Amino acid sequence: MAASAATPPSSRALSIPLVIHAARVTSEALNGDTILVDGDSGVVHLRPEDSVAAAFRDKIAMQAAAQSRYADLRGLPATARCGGTVGLYMNAGLMGDLPSLDGSGAEGVGLFRTELQFLTRTRVPRRDELAGMYRRVLDNAHGKPVVFRTLDIGSDKVLPYMKPQDEPNPAMGWRAIRVGLDKRGVLQMQLQALIRAAAGRALHVMFPFVAEESEFTHARAMLDHQLEREAAMGRELPTAIQVGAMLETPSLAFASPAFFRQCDFVSIGGNDLKQFFFAADRENERVRRRYDTLSVPFVALLAQIVDRCAQAGVPLSFCGEDAGRPAEAATFAALGLRRLSMRPASIGPVKSLIRRIDLCELRGLIDAARDEGVGNLRPVVTAYLARAADTRS
Ligand code: PEP
Ligand code: MG
Repeated sequence: MAASAATPPSSRALSIPLVIHAARVTSEALNGDTILVDGDSGVVHLRPEDSVAAAFRDKIAMQAAAQSRYADLRGLPATARCGGTVGLYMNAGLMGDLPSLDGSGAEGVGLFRTELQFLTRTRVPRRDELAGMYRRVLDNAHGKPVVFRTLDIGSDKVLPYMKPQDEPNPAMGWRAIRVGLDKRGVLQMQLQALIRAAAGRALHVMFPFVAEESEFTHARAMLDHQLEREAAMGRELPTAIQVGAMLETPSLAFASPAFFRQCDFVSIGGNDLKQFFFAADRENERVRRRYDTLSVPFVALLAQIVDRCAQAGVPLSFCGEDAGRPAEAATFAALGLRRLSMRPASIGPVKSLIRRIDLCELRGLIDAARDEGVGNLRPVVTAYLARAADTRS
């Protein structure tokens, strides 16, 4: 018997294979039953046939073999045959993720989801505890950059010790930077902890869910104020500070040039950006797969963001789940995105793919398809990737 559904975002962020809405499986499972959980495809098999179990074992072995093939690429750059090099970074959120940094060949952590440390506790962590934790993260990154995203609580990430807000629409409600700017104490404490942890080395801070310019200006001013306070107390400061905004709402793609110039970097949070662009809840099984990242309207939005950042001279990355999917990663790179951040297991496959394709040629095909008026670029991109794979083999 098989059931299927998807993994909710916070467990995905924690890299925990989890399948939900498998109601018949949970009601029919008995003690001692064999259950196969395929978190990647959102499928659960209860009391699987031998053939299903064997296929499962083969799949796991093939994945392990593929990962060991990718290990040979670890020290090599993701340089395409034409069109430049793409920096590949990993997403993380817990200390336990850091060993993957060297193993995956990532150039750094492009998204460190700091709320995970808050989610796994029963009380708000203290500033010194946080500083100690962030220091250990930086120590374990061995000099590679780590982009710390400040708390993104609310929406799908509800802290067990915070009074739940009774909001009709939490994804569009009081969350992330909105909470940080309204209840300044926690964000201030987190910024202090980050500054202390990065004393004598570089600090990268990213504010989540910025929907308009003034939110970024205020958050950045909070960070500057904390830096002044720490300096006045005679504490050693980070050697360099880069402050970025996550672009997760369509509004920010249309912000003024001055906004983009204010940012040291911008990172597209595609999971949220896509749900707001298509008005399709990322947690609702009925609609979450309905709209395609490679549909022309969404790609047009991404192309516009790439242009706006290029005009402002601000580095741009993409750190949503789509960055780790082959067709999406190739398309983003062809559009001009030069940094992609993904789960560690996707880095090898994406690197291997980028190294064998020609981003200039792919860009030409994408532009031609858009000029022809197609609605979705996936057929063009997947056909190109299949040809690239054939040419190589
Ligand atoms: C995103 O929205 O794409 C993102 C990376 O943030 P999260 O998935 O944590 O909301
Ligand atoms: Mg997000």
